[in-house]
Formats: sequence, structure tokens, C-alpha cells
Amino acid sequence: MQNRPQTMRTTPRPPVLIQNDGLPIPQIGLGIYGPDDNGAADAVVNALETGYRSIDTAAFYLNEAGVGEGLRRSGIPREEVHVTTKVWGEDHGYNEAMAAFDRSLSSLALEYVDLYLIHWPLPAKDRYVETWRALERILSDGRAKSIGVSNFQPHHLERLFAETDVRPVVNQIELHPGFQNEAVRKFNAQQGILTQAWSPLGRGRVFENADLIRIAQKHQRTVAQIVIRWHIELGNVVIPKSITPERMKENLNVFDFTLDEEDHTVIRSLETGKRTGDDPDFFG
Ligand code: NAD
Repeated sequence: MQNRPQTMRTTPRPPVLIQNDGLPIPQIGLGIYGPDDNGAADAVVNALETGYRSIDTAAFYLNEAGVGEGLRRSGIPREEVHVTTKVWGEDHGYNEAMAAFDRSLSSLALEYVDLYLIHWPLPAKDRYVETWRALERILSDGRAKSIGVSNFQPHHLERLFAETDVRPVVNQIELHPGFQNEAVRKFNAQQGILTQAWSPLGRGRVFENADLIRIAQKHQRTVAQIVIRWHIELGNVVIPKSITPERMKENLNVFDFTLDEEDHTVIRSLETGKRTGDDPDFFG
């Protein structure tokens, strides 16, 4: 394998946060919902060259094979990259989740994932507790270094706390200036669970916002950088999606400026109460 010259890395590595199991997670990762295997492989190579060390995929995204391929093609050692994938709704249940994990690992062609998440709680199915027990087994087998959840409301988490043994390390939830998910974010923090923000840029909706454009002009930054910086200052793990190397770099370059109290007040006022995605209490 060729050594990559230092100069290829044009942006600093994002800092890590420490999960409740003691393991680190990069505070910025690449979300990869959308591209097929080929697109995902190229995006992962570009992201790792840019300085990313964390990739967020899911069985549902149908690009786990591309993510694994990109990781190998990059030449970056496996242990330097944090890989997340997720179990989809049709695979809820103990045996189903065990089998789904085998399929994900085989698609990724990896020996372990860093983080395995329940993608949605699907309360109508009422199988997320037994699904979580499968994740606990996968954790104890060492095939996932950490386990967590996504789209869990506090009452779904309370049930896991009451009926299972291992506490999730992260809760990946919809969170952006238009939907700040304050109550869940605060609950996660109280329970020692990191909040990971999905659709951190509101699926692109943030770019037209006049207040964010003004704050961006004030700091001579882009709107994407302002919003990602806001997430960082809230203590969120953030996984903006881009397949464009220039944007990937831009989204990582948020560690040489800070927002002031007025910026935070303005962004806090952008809450609309409207999700871009599904409501976890009813989805599924
Ligand atoms: P996002 O908020 O990351 O926005 C992505 C959009 O913003 C894309 O159109 C992209 O081209 C654009 N963009 C990114 N950087 C930009 C920049 N610097 N300048 C201009 N445009 C830019 O939306 P998302 O993809 O929905 O969410 C990110 C990731 O979150 C997904 O890829 C996925 O990994 C994860 N996710 C998880 C769930 C879940 O249920 N757990 C749901 C949705 C998304």
C-alpha cells in the first residue's frame, strides 16, 4: 500500500467526544444516505482524504458494500475510521436483528463496526426491547464496539433502561435550526447519552434562511459552517451529508471561529416545531 503524503490532508481532523462506554467518536462524521455503492465508495475515499474519520451508513441505505470498499481503497487503517450502521425496521426482533447484523457486516466486508444502532423504535411493532438484546449480544461478541439507538424518544429510552442491561452510547435524532429537538437533546445529556444530529443542515433548508445568511456574513463563513459550528457548540455529534469534496472540506473547517451569544439567541429563535422526517412515535 502506498504511503499518502501529509499534504493530501487539507483540513484538520475533527475532535472526538467520549461516549459513556469510554470509547471516542469523532464529533463530525460523513452521512452517506443517498448514493449507491459506487457513489458511496468514491465519497468515502474523498472524505477520508479530506480528514473525516467517521462514516454513518445503514442497511436501509443499500450502500454498506460501497462504504467498506471506499474504506479499503483509501488505504487508511481500519482502526482509524469509525463506522456506524443501523438495523432497519423489518429486522426488529432478536433473531432477525442478529441475522441483519451478519448481512451488514458481510456487505461492509469488515470484522466489526464501531457503532450499531436501532434505526427507529417502531413502537407499534413493540419489538425494540428484544432488538436491543440482540445488539447487547453483538456487543459482547465484540462485533460492534459500541451500540446505540436512533429516533428514540425519552419514553422509549426509559423502557430500555428498565428492561435491558446496556445503556445506548448515542441517540441519533433529527436536529437542525428549524427542529432543535430540545427536550430529547436535554434528556440524552442527563442520561449520559450523546446526541447525534441527523439532517444537521435540515436537508438543505438552512441555506435560504436570512438570519443564518446574516450570521454567515458577519463571520465571513458559509451558512453550512455556521450551522455545523452551532451543533459543535451544543455538544452534538454531527453527520452532514455531502458527496462533493469541496463541501466536505467546508463542513469540517469549523474549528477556528466561535459563535457569540447573540448568534445563539438568533438561531434558537429559528425553531419551527416542524420535522423534515417522520415522527418516531408513529413511524412504522
Ligand atoms: P443534511 O442536513 O446533511 O443536508 C444534506 C444536503 O445539504 C444535501 O443536499 C447536501 O448536498 C447539502 N450540503 C451539504 N453540505 C453543504 C455545503 N457545505 N454547502 C451547500 N450544500 C451542502 O441532510 P441528510 O442527508 O438528510 O442528513 C445527513 C445524514 O444523516 C444522512 O446522510 C444520514 O447518514 C443521516 N440520517 C439519519 C436518519 C435516521 O433516521 N437515523 C435520517 C436521515 C438522515
